[in-house]
Amino acid sequence: MIKEIKAKKILSNLKHPDPWFGIKYNMNIYRGCQHGCIYCDSRSQCYQIDNFDMIHVKVNSVDLLKKEIPSKREKGTLGTGSMSDPYIPLEKEFKLTREALKVIDGYHFPVHMITKSDLVVRDKDILQDINRIYGAVSFTITTSDDNLAKKIEPGAPTSSSRYKAMKVLAEAGIYTGLTMMPILPFIEDDEKNIRCIVEKAAAHGAKYIIPSFGMTLRDRQKAHYYKQLDVLFPGMRKKYEMRYGNQYGCSVNNADELMGKFKELCSKYDIKTKMDKYEGDKSEQLSLF
Ligand code: SF4
Repeated sequence: MIKEIKAKKILSNLKHPDPWFGIKYNMNIYRGCQHGCIYCDSRSQCYQIDNFDMIHVKVNSVDLLKKEIPSKREKGTLGTGSMSDPYIPLEKEFKLTREALKVIDGYHFPVHMITKSDLVVRDKDILQDINRIYGAVSFTITTSDDNLAKKIEPGAPTSSSRYKAMKVLAEAGIYTGLTMMPILPFIEDDEKNIRCIVEKAAAHGAKYIIPSFGMTLRDRQKAHYYKQLDVLFPGMRKKYEMRYGNQYGCSVNNADELMGKFKELCSKYDIKTKMDKYEGDKSEQLSLF
């Protein structure tokens, strides 16, 4: 289900750049998401998206961006991908993310895109341009097992496609890495999975991996997740209920152990566990010397 709408505003300001992703201005061109990840936190009531499977396309996003960017006094990283993926299949047709990137490039703003789609490769040319200021692309990968990814992220391209896209961007000089989150308890929390992600990330040019060993569970999101577990992993819901009850933040049982192993592997492959953030224009910094 798709609905084209005109939004009132496209950028939301964060008081301070968020410490994980460095984002100062957040942008969501789509509302709802076709990737259909069973664990998606954006279904939570606090975000007030009553029907997350109905995709709202903000068709005036680019015009709004042209008005809103010049009014920003502080240059800060413009991020997208936290509430909906900027490269859902509909983007092939609407090309709104691509047009938005062109506007952002025109104003020399830094960008951090977070996606589960290899469609981002289409915009490599603009991202290379933006990267003269700062352009980061993070691929979210929670498992390297394509069969498992198809179960839990049914509408998204396979993890293999994401790794391949990462390599293309890395070879084009774009700052790229991984957000390894969530790691689903009892499903993805084994050392083999973490090892495989780090090794593949290293082989495909990742400069960083931002990890989170666990997930969130609340209201509508939790109800949806448990419903999907009943279909995809019969009996698993009981384990969650017994272990987490009404908890919101749900760390995997062996989080400390996995974090230790993860850091060891990242150090072996020279991958950072935090990303470098935008710290002013490279050209302006160079002109100081
Ligand atoms: S890609 Fe992100 S926003 Fe889209 S369904 Fe998956 S977790 Fe939610």
